[in-house]
Amino acid sequence: MKSDKKILIGISSCLLGEKVRFDGQHKMDRYIVDILGQYVDFFPVCPEVESGLTIPRESMRLVSTDRGIRLITNKTKTDMTDMMQKFSEKKLDNLVKKPICAFIFKSRSPTSGMTRVKVYPENGGAPRNSGTGIFSDMFMKKFPHIPVEDEGRLNDPQLRENFIERLFAYKRWTDMLCHSRTPAGLLDFHQRHKLILMAHSPVHYKAAGKITGNLKKKKMDSILEEYIENFTEGMKLKATVSKNYNVLQHIMGYFRKELTADDKKYILHVFDQYKEGLIPLIVPVTLMNYFINRFDEKYLSNQYYLSPFPDELKLRNHA
Ligand code: SF4
Repeated sequence: MKSDKKILIGISSCLLGEKVRFDGQHKMDRYIVDILGQYVDFFPVCPEVESGLTIPRESMRLVSTDRGIRLITNKTKTDMTDMMQKFSEKKLDNLVKKPICAFIFKSRSPTSGMTRVKVYPENGGAPRNSGTGIFSDMFMKKFPHIPVEDEGRLNDPQLRENFIERLFAYKRWTDMLCHSRTPAGLLDFHQRHKLILMAHSPVHYKAAGKITGNLKKKKMDSILEEYIENFTEGMKLKATVSKNYNVLQHIMGYFRKELTADDKKYILHVFDQYKEGLIPLIVPVTLMNYFINRFDEKYLSNQYYLSPFPDELKLRNHA
C-alpha cells in the first residue's frame, strides 16, 4: 500500500510546509505529511497565492456587513471577496477533472477554513466563530460528497479515524464509478460496505438497502446519486462504541452456532471490555477476523468494516 500511492487528496498548501502564508511562513502538519503522506498523494491548493496575491501580503478576515459576509484585508480594508470567488469558481471547475478523494483544509483561515472561522462585526466588537472560508465554502458546495476535514479537527482520534475511513471509502466509490458503473457494481459496493455503514448509522444502512432494492425502477444515474448522498450522510456520523458493539454482535451472529461455550464466553468478555473502554476497537475486530478465517465466512471476510484502511495507520488503537 505504501508504495502504491493512488489516492489523491486536495490540501491547503501551507499544511505541507509551503511558505505561502501572509507572513511568508507555513503551517506544516507532521501527521499529515509524515504518516498520511505514506498512503496518499497530495494536490496542494493555496487560493490566496494562486489568485495572484503576493508573499508576504496583508492579512485578511471575514467581516459581517450589510452586503453579507465579506473577505476584507485588515489594514487597507480592501474587499477581496469578488476576486476570491471568481478565482475559486475557475479553480473548482478545473478540480472536476482531478480524481480528488478528500480535502484537508487549513483551520480558521478566512479563505480555506471549513468551519468555525471568525467573523468580525463591521463596526467592531467580538467576532463569532461561525464562518466558512470563501474557497472552502465553494468547494463543499460543488463537491458535497467528497470527505473534508481541517488539520485541527484531525487531532481528535475519532474524527481522524472517521475522515480516513471516509476517504478510503470514497476512493472505492470512484473506482466503482470508473470500472463498474452498473447495477452489479453498485450492489457489490453496497454488499461490502454494509457493516461499515451500519457502524456509523443503522438508519442510513437501512435506507441504503431500500435504494439498492429498487434498481430496476429508476435510471442508474439517479440511483447512484441517491446512494452516495445517503452513504455520505451516514458515514459522517460517528461510529460510537455502542454502534460498534452492535456490529460486533451482528458479526458474531454469523458463526454463533459453531462456537464452543468457552469461545462465546471469551468473545463476549472481550466485547464488554471494549464497551467499558478498557481496550481499543482493534482488539475485538482482530478476534472477529480470527473466527471469520477459521469458519471461512466469505460474506464477512469481504466487509470493509474489518479492514477499512491500512492497519499501519493504527487508527483503531485508541480506547
Ligand atoms: S490557509 Fe489557505 S490561503 Fe492561507 S496560506 Fe494556507 S493554503 Fe494559502
